[in-house]
Amino acid sequence: MALQEVLGQEHAIRLLSNVLVQARLAHAYLFAGPAGVGKHLAAQQFAKALYCATPSLSGGYDACDACTACHKIDTGNHPDVIEMGPEGNTIRIDHIRTLQHRLSYKPYENPHMTIILDGCERLTLPATNALLKTLEEPPAHALLLLLTSNKTALPLTITSRCQLIPFRALTPVHLRTILEQQGVDAETAAMTAMLSQGGLGEYGDLSEALAVRQRAHTLLAEAVHDRATAVFTQARKLAGKREQCEALLLWTALLCRDLVMLHVAPNRPLYNDDLRAELNQLAHQLSIDALLDASGCIAQLQQYLGMNLNPQLVFERFVIYLQQLATSSAP
Ligand SMILES: [Zn+2]
Repeated sequence: MALQEVLGQEHAIRLLSNVLVQARLAHAYLFAGPAGVGKHLAAQQFAKALYCATPSLSGGYDACDACTACHKIDTGNHPDVIEMGPEGNTIRIDHIRTLQHRLSYKPYENPHMTIILDGCERLTLPATNALLKTLEEPPAHALLLLLTSNKTALPLTITSRCQLIPFRALTPVHLRTILEQQGVDAETAAMTAMLSQGGLGEYGDLSEALAVRQRAHTLLAEAVHDRATAVFTQARKLAGKREQCEALLLWTALLCRDLVMLHVAPNRPLYNDDLRAELNQLAHQLSIDALLDASGCIAQLQQYLGMNLNPQLVFERFVIYLQQLATSSAP
């Protein structure tokens, strides 16, 4: 594996490659983009290209993938490349102190000491402040690769001191290729790619994703058929569970998007193409206005959840909304 082989992130890889060609390294880079799209892989491959004893120059500056340095980084044994990330849910100040302690030593084998810090959106406030000190006065040999799936969670004081390397959501074609390279069979790879919306990190477990989608689909169908009691029973099971609530809203949004698509461009591919027949039936029972309203409402509820509103309250609103959707679409 080498930098140029990271799939679907041509822009980010070009930026990193230019840094290596020009040999003008900043002290800190912020790899920002959705979860599971290759930020961590790119950070490792960037370090490899930097430390490689016999870098290749054809097709961009890159690691040979064969020398001792490359092998050490691949196996997590290079003394000058340190990988860190959240423990539990957060990166605490003691993690940053460990990082600072490591940086206080000179590198062993290379002019640079690289720290790959994953999950920076989970820095606690004291940890953020400690990290800021390092970014303000980095040791000459420090190279910090900060990775985040939510750049907006980081203060400007941090982001403004890093060179931004933007990563984008992967296309289903890239996702499918990556999954197949990982040994997933073709059918499962195609299905997962279609469902995972551009990031392999979002749905590690396909069956779990499909189960949530099934619930969202059932809820929509029950609402359309005005079975209020069934909807509320389903809803009550999920209330209070933030992650499930988020996942359910996301799937409902995707289903509504597909239903709108069936009204305006019925021949285009759907997110949930495997449910096309069932969704077609539902689409006939819902007006396009009601669907667009529903999409707007779901987006608002997703925002409320993001603002840490009680999932139970959000969910109750969601259920009431589903009922209104059924009433407004009734012939
Ligand atoms: Zn090498």
